[in-house]
Amino acid sequence: MQDFLAHTLAGEAPAARCGETDYYRWTWWDEGVMQLIPHRATQPALVLSAGIHGNETAPVEMLDALLEDLRRGEIILTRPVLVILGNPAALRAGKRYLSDDMNRMFGGRWQRFPESGETRRACVLEHCLERYLSDVGPAWHLDMHTAIRGSHHPRFGVFPARDTPYEADFLAWMADAGLQALVFHRAPGGTFTHHSSACFGAQSCTLELGKAQPFGQNDLTRFSITQSALSALLAGMPAVPADVQPLRYEVASQITRHSEAFTLHMSAQTENFTAFHRGTVLAEDGDTVYRVENETEYVLFPNPNVALGLRAGLMLKEIN
Ligand SMILES: [Zn+2]
Repeated sequence: MQDFLAHTLAGEAPAARCGETDYYRWTWWDEGVMQLIPHRATQPALVLSAGIHGNETAPVEMLDALLEDLRRGEIILTRPVLVILGNPAALRAGKRYLSDDMNRMFGGRWQRFPESGETRRACVLEHCLERYLSDVGPAWHLDMHTAIRGSHHPRFGVFPARDTPYEADFLAWMADAGLQALVFHRAPGGTFTHHSSACFGAQSCTLELGKAQPFGQNDLTRFSITQSALSALLAGMPAVPADVQPLRYEVASQITRHSEAFTLHMSAQTENFTAFHRGTVLAEDGDTVYRVENETEYVLFPNPNVALGLRAGLMLKEIN
């Protein structure tokens, strides 16, 4: 299908809901959701999602460019792929979200939020994942974002907590895709990738690729290493092997904003992966004081402006 992103941004359904190229059959499932099944399919299948946060446009443009390469046959598709533009209403508005952060709502958590476009969309996307993943067999889910802040590691991956180890191939691909750091969660969360991993056993990763910019202002050459690794993955080819291995971190603790009194002791310029030493006071919330417990910890996603009860930052420790 041509102009999938343009149709999605215009809020239009395409004239045809399904079709075929020399290499695959495509089906438009819903606004911003399209399935491509190659005539000869290999495993693992893929879920490629972007735009769960509507202001994170670079991965949306990258996904659109990959779809265009597939349509023209410049990439020969070898795997089933479900392409998802997560939050079309927020993409149109150029905002992270309109009512509530959708990437806290998965795993049925949307039922705990006031009803909104985002709660309805999270429910639709859960159904799409179920329909697709219960049919295609083993799958990888790559959910692509850009970070709000600058980062000591501009490209990194965040992995949901799971009971079984990640497959070596999956982790090796992350290095080939240019990720400089891999962060492992130790507790469940409401992210899209936690849902696909916990409910359907997918190998799942949230990719953070640079910093959020409006449509048209992204320098996609900064993502070319990730884009080439995605092209190779779609084509079932090996990616160019990485010469640098990413650093590994695990989540040591979470800073949560529980009350209006919450204060985060970091500047608005504090970058992701900034180091803090043992004993440093990170945040205060009434009687609760958040301090660094390990020798050195690194902050990820500091954001004092979240709704009450939500994450205002993660503290990491290195695990190499
Ligand atoms: Zn995001």
